Order: sequence, then structure tokens, then C-alpha cells
Amino acid sequence: MVKNEIIILEITDITTDGNGVGKYNGMAVFVPETAVGDLIEAKVVKVLKNYSFAIVNKILKASKDRIDSDCPYFPKCGGCSFRHINYNAELKIKEKFVYDAFTRIGKINCDFLPILGCDNQNGYRNKAQYPVAEKNGKIECGFYAKRSHRIIGGFECRLIPDEFSKIAQMITKYAAQNNISAYNEMTGKGILRHIYLRRGAVTGEIMVCVVVSKPCAEKFYALCDMLKSHFKSVVSIVMNINSQNTNVILGHKTIVLYGKDKITDIMCGNIIGISSQSFYQVNSPQAEKLYKIAEEFADFKGDESLLDLYCGAGTIGLSMADKVKKLTGVEIIPQAVENARENAANSGIENAEFICSDAGEAAHKLAESESLPDVVIVDPPRKGCDKLTLDSMVKMHPEKIVMVSCNPATAARDCAYLVDNGYETVKVKAVDLFPRTCHVECVVLMSKA
Ligand code: SAH
Repeated sequence: MVKNEIIILEITDITTDGNGVGKYNGMAVFVPETAVGDLIEAKVVKVLKNYSFAIVNKILKASKDRIDSDCPYFPKCGGCSFRHINYNAELKIKEKFVYDAFTRIGKINCDFLPILGCDNQNGYRNKAQYPVAEKNGKIECGFYAKRSHRIIGGFECRLIPDEFSKIAQMITKYAAQNNISAYNEMTGKGILRHIYLRRGAVTGEIMVCVVVSKPCAEKFYALCDMLKSHFKSVVSIVMNINSQNTNVILGHKTIVLYGKDKITDIMCGNIIGISSQSFYQVNSPQAEKLYKIAEEFADFKGDESLLDLYCGAGTIGLSMADKVKKLTGVEIIPQAVENARENAANSGIENAEFICSDAGEAAHKLAESESLPDVVIVDPPRKGCDKLTLDSMVKMHPEKIVMVSCNPATAARDCAYLVDNGYETVKVKAVDLFPRTCHVECVVLMSKA
């Protein structure tokens, strides 16, 4: 196989990053925007030792899973991977991602429950982060093209509320008219880096966060007046200062330009305040179902002590606080811990305490103490748990560990480690929190072997 060669290929599988795969003379060829069952004429674009990449030249026979994309930016935009296939097929793919991760990476065999699909496949996100850049002397805002930092114009995204695009548009126009320059990643010059929006799914409250390279509140006061008068749901406008040359979106300092420093939402019946820096599941109604599954897996009797590791604003643990004797949450971001404490108080929950610490360090200390949890819920970021966290969990020897994860591969790896250290994997359920993207969440029940 050589570059630019035209080959005929049948797509037989989909990778976890959403590419179709076919075999040509025994070699795997990855082709974006294809579906299992497609017979295609493909143009080879890159040949490596053990695999190649190709693009579709012509679809000779379309897979039965194919549908027409309803987004003008697909597939250029990197946000969605599956707008060209029907949702049922997408769910099957995601169910298999989770199954493959556990059986292949984790070498784990257990009860694999059917995936829980999401009722809304569009407009489900409660958060958007629009990058800002300059192009041909003009400020531009939109979304990144796939695997790049090139902005493709257009504010509308099928996954987010309509109001977001109107707000982002207003801010960009304001910046252009008021000589607020776009930040340039190469030179480190310029002001406006990102427009970050968040909305409470139940309350509709919106937070607008302008991410800038240096403090410049005075430049944005007139914008606050405009946003306030046009969008009644905007209850918080904040400025986040990120002066680092990094692709991490938020810096450490946030100042309030208007209203509150957080928005309030209702989740699982609790009053939840969320600051700009705090993690909050992007698909709230589906996250409520995810938490319910975690609760069913934990199957509380009422006298348990529950440890919620990587607890964010406390949402998972607080949703179960009335089912247990005591709840302890651990989270590394101070603002999120502050939110969690206030959320407990505002929701009248008195059996909860929150520790601001690295999960591993806190778990290590707890493991040395008298207060050992009966159940641990662990919901780490994509990279999974570190060894100290896993070892400390083992040392605390809870009856049950419920793992919630947005990355089945690291979840499978971490569960395998727990299996080697005295736990068994009882069941795994995939939950689709991110329709149309290649991401999938899973919940795992582990119990003492
Ligand atoms: N359970 C929460 C948050 C899950 S996201 C929810 O459902 O909303 C993972 C959380 O882990 C984030 O809040 C992140 O800030 C936190 N985190 C990341 N690294 C951590 C660490 N080393 N120790 C403790 N918390 C950490």
C-alpha cells in the first residue's frame, strides 16, 4: 500500500475515537466518517508500519446504519463523531467500547448490562467553551476543527442550547467593536482567549465567563450591561484570568463582573451551586440517571459510611446522602469543595463532610485512621486513579467500590488492579452521557472477593 493509492475497503469495526476500520491485505486501515457495513473506495493518505489511514473517495455501498448529518459543521468540527449514523447503531458501538475495554484491557469478565441511551441527542450540553482567535485581522470565535487549533466559524452547535450561540455572538461582536484583541497562542499576545458558558438545566440560570490573558475588567463593563438587558437568564458574569501559554482553558483567578460568582441548579432534588472552576456533568438529566445507577449498584442498607472520591461539587454523594449514615467527599479544587459544603447546607444535608485534598492522599490518611468507609464511590478524571488512590482503597477494604468513569480504558485498567488486590468485578453498565460524540461513561460495581 502506498500513499495516494485508491483501494476498495469494507468497514468492519469502529475505533474508540470514532474512525471506521477495514482490513486491506491483512493491514488495518482507519477511515474517518464511515460506518460498519460501508463498502468504500478509499484514498490512502498515510502509511505506517502496521496500519494506514485513508479517506473516503466514494461510497460504493452504504451501511444500513448511515443517516444524513444534520449539522453543517460535521465532520470538519472535532466535537461529534457519529452524526452520520443512527443513534441505535451509535449505542451499540459505545456498548462494545465498554465491553472491549473491560474484556481486553482489564481481562475482566462479569455481567455487562445493556447501555442506557439518552432521550435527547441534541441540545443536551449545559456548557460550551468557544475558543477565540484572530484571522486576517478579524476576531473569530467558533469551535476547533478536528485535531487542530484552527477555528471553524459559526457559533451554532447542535449539542448546546440556542441561547449560547447568541451570547457568544454578542461577545465576539462587542470585542470587535471595542478593540479587544483575540489572544494569539503562538505569540502570547492579545486579550480574549475563550468564551465559556454554563447553564443550569433545571433553573436555566446562565454564567458567562470571559477568559482573558490579563485583568481588564473595565473593558467589559459595557458588555455586562448589554448581556444583562438581552438575556434575562444571565445571573453571573465573571472574568477568568489565564496568563499562561497553555491549552488549559481556565487560569486560577476569577473575578466577578456582574451578579453571583456561581449559578444554581437542581440536581437529584438538591440545590447545587457551581462556580466557574468546579466540575459539573455536562448532561444533567442523564447524569441524574447515571447517579441513580451508581446508587442501585451500591445498594445501601442505611447504616453505611460512604466515601465519594473525586467528588467535584458533591453531586454524586449528596444525591445518596439520605441513604447512608455518613458521607465524606474528597476533591482537589477548593472552589468545588466550597460549593459542595454549601450545597449540602442549602439542601439541608447534615451528615456530609468534604475534604479538599488529592484523592490518593486523603484516602491514604483515611486508610490509616479509624473511620473506614463501607462503600467507596470513585469518579476520577479521564486519566483514571493513581496507584496511591487504588492502594489506599484496597487498604480501606470497603465492602463495595462503585467506579464511575468517563474513560472505559482507564476504568478497566484500574478495575484490573483492584481485581489483583482482592476485589471482583460484579457488573458494568455503559451510560451514554455524550450522544453524537465518541465519549461514553460507565458504572462498575466491585465487591470484596
Ligand atoms: N463526581 C463529580 C466530579 C467528577 S469529575 C461529578 O459527578 O460531578 C472528576 C473530579 O475529580 C473533578 O472535580 C476534578 O477536579 C477532581 N480531581 C482531579 N484530580 C484530582 C485529584 N488528584 N484528587 C482529587 N480530586 C481530583
